[in-house]
Amino acid sequence: MAHAFDYELTELHSHIGGAVSPEIMWSLAHSQGIKTKNRDYWEFLETITVNPLQPKSFEGYLKLFDTTELIQSSPEGMEESALSVVSGAYRKNLITRLEMRFNPMLRNRNGERDLDHIILATIRGMERATLEYPIRAGLIIMLDRRFSPRQNEVLVEKAIKYRHRGVVGIDVGGPQNPAYKVEDIAELYAKAASAGLGLTAHAGEETSDNLASTIEELGVSRIGHGVKAVGRPELLALLRDKGVTLELCPSSNLSTGVVSDKSELAKIVKTLLDEEIKFTINTDGPEMLQTSLRKERALLKDGGMLDDDQLLQCEQWAREASFLR
Ligand SMILES: [Zn+2]
Repeated sequence: MAHAFDYELTELHSHIGGAVSPEIMWSLAHSQGIKTKNRDYWEFLETITVNPLQPKSFEGYLKLFDTTELIQSSPEGMEESALSVVSGAYRKNLITRLEMRFNPMLRNRNGERDLDHIILATIRGMERATLEYPIRAGLIIMLDRRFSPRQNEVLVEKAIKYRHRGVVGIDVGGPQNPAYKVEDIAELYAKAASAGLGLTAHAGEETSDNLASTIEELGVSRIGHGVKAVGRPELLALLRDKGVTLELCPSSNLSTGVVSDKSELAKIVKTLLDEEIKFTINTDGPEMLQTSLRKERALLKDGGMLDDDQLLQCEQWAREASFLR
């Protein structure tokens, strides 16, 4: 039987903490003896997914990760999670190039579990999926805005250590932290770049703060979100001049209220096209946001924001900007 999709897709921005289906998360919690806050499956669902009809605050959205990260905080949890994310991407959406990201230090129960075991288990889960399905996958190791420079340094060391085994890049994310300074991690980014890793960073999502410095000081080739550059001509010019590709996550931005509604989303997409800034379409975490890469593309097409040729162009940009070689 042939599949019903027009062409294969690439996804660059998917958090493992938001990409594992709830039923797998539920049974992972149980198989590891983790006491979930909610004893009923349906209540549990509310703690790890966004209801599109009841948008969360940006902080409320990030809080959902506390539960998924806890359940994934073991080698077994990460192996099963990575296996399900990669294989699900191929089966559900015919994604054949997938970059998925996670912070191993938010999966080790505050140092109780060994980081190398967590990372290797994730790689094993990813590789098992690539044996089952014709998909190429890579891991992006995330730094965190809440972490000390030393913690972030350890993460970059691990990313470099596993660069020939499936780690393809680094990213920084997590809740805003007034103490976070882009310059504190600039050297780490330079070190990762010289080791051949790809560079991306969350910026320009809920605020445009730090967007310029992230582009200028971290030397990233991609930005996670970046939508707050719209309305700021100097930031748009910077993105274009540096050839930075944006990783857009439309439903995520709508669900967290970062983008107020579809008309604002349409304005953002139109501005990026007019300003000739390259952008890609992503889910941010399909299960948590109850979406899929195909649905994200349909949202933009049905909303009259992108036509078929432009959607194909976005896929082309994703392939060009991918850290997978
Ligand atoms: Zn993200």
